[in-house]
Amino acid sequence: MAEQKRDYYEVLGVDKNADEAAIKKAYRVLAKKYHPDMNPGDAEAEKKFKEASEAYAVLSDAEKRHQYDQFGHAAFENGGGPGGFGGFDFNGADFGDIFGDIFGDLFGGGSRRSGRSSGPMRGANVRTSVRIDFSEAVFGCEKELDLTLKEPCGKCKGSGAKPGTTPKSCPKCGGKGQVVFTSQSFFGTVRNVQACPDCQGTGQIIEDKCPDCHGAGFIPMRKKIQVSIPAGIDNGQSVRIREKGEPGTLGGPRGDLLVEVIVQRHPIFQRQDVSIFSTVPVSYAVAALGGEIVVDTVDGKVIYEVKPGTQTDTRVRLKGKGVPSLRNKEIRGDHYVTLVVQTPEHLSNEAKELLKKFDELTGNSLHAAEKAEEEKKQEGEKGKKKKGFFNK
Ligand SMILES: [Zn+2]
Ligand SMILES: [Zn+2]
Repeated sequence: MAEQKRDYYEVLGVDKNADEAAIKKAYRVLAKKYHPDMNPGDAEAEKKFKEASEAYAVLSDAEKRHQYDQFGHAAFENGGGPGGFGGFDFNGADFGDIFGDIFGDLFGGGSRRSGRSSGPMRGANVRTSVRIDFSEAVFGCEKELDLTLKEPCGKCKGSGAKPGTTPKSCPKCGGKGQVVFTSQSFFGTVRNVQACPDCQGTGQIIEDKCPDCHGAGFIPMRKKIQVSIPAGIDNGQSVRIREKGEPGTLGGPRGDLLVEVIVQRHPIFQRQDVSIFSTVPVSYAVAALGGEIVVDTVDGKVIYEVKPGTQTDTRVRLKGKGVPSLRNKEIRGDHYVTLVVQTPEHLSNEAKELLKKFDELTGNSLHAAEKAEEEKKQEGEKGKKKKGFFNK
């Protein structure tokens, strides 16, 4: 008997709820890794490739996937012969596109036009980043970016052909932009539709190239782009500006511009989601007696009433002084302040006297403390002799 078949989700390493894109992505990675062309003579790789292809054929097809989810492998085992795929029907599985992508990746130098269409194609997304400071992230801001972006060439109006000439139809693909390869594989004849290698999927060959853009149809240009950064954005998040990426081909829309936000650290505030944290010193007297202190917040200085008898490291909350929610800027987080009681230093003689008096009044006689200090010193001198006692 054939060995136990692995679960298709497990084979692809995806979650049971994975969407179509995740399944495709997972298969693409495996197919690329184990494709026999990449692993000649490696039986183990071939086995893995078959296994992944079978899993993909099922999970990429909504109906088959549903059957599989209900019945498991039993859903496809009718009429299974020995070995091989057990009569598994691969017809209809969309491998062409995915192999086109894989071979595009492997051999096509990463051409973005290795897709299946010779029609208008959307341009690629462009990524950039912008630095903003802490309060700009909290309250939002407007920034101007200075970017070099591809713009349609003015001379040839984006056609890439020298003015006065026209691109001719590609003879290899007959202007369709795609070519069909059939190949024999483990699961029979596979039709692979790929972007035409001669015209990169455009369906056109430019014989007389535009002198300005050298046939590309685009020219890099410096542009100023305004970006509105919403209140509440956090470090590492991106703002998408639609259709400010690379131009599309053959009249397709531009890609998007993705602006990653890098938020600079603040000298006093730390942030976690919509909460802000800071530390504020409180004098000994205010901590003991209570009183007003001034606290810096992103809204400016606020007065906070410290309760009498506040211990050091007490954390208090300033409601609504945190970061606005990115989804609804009317909702704001809180600001948490850690109150750190300052032990007095560099006291004047008068202050010292007062503190001594204070100590006596509160029962912690300083004289008693001094006595204890003296005893400790003596202990220290006798330390060696006493060691045995302490180690007991
Ligand atoms: Zn041009
Ligand atoms: Zn062509």
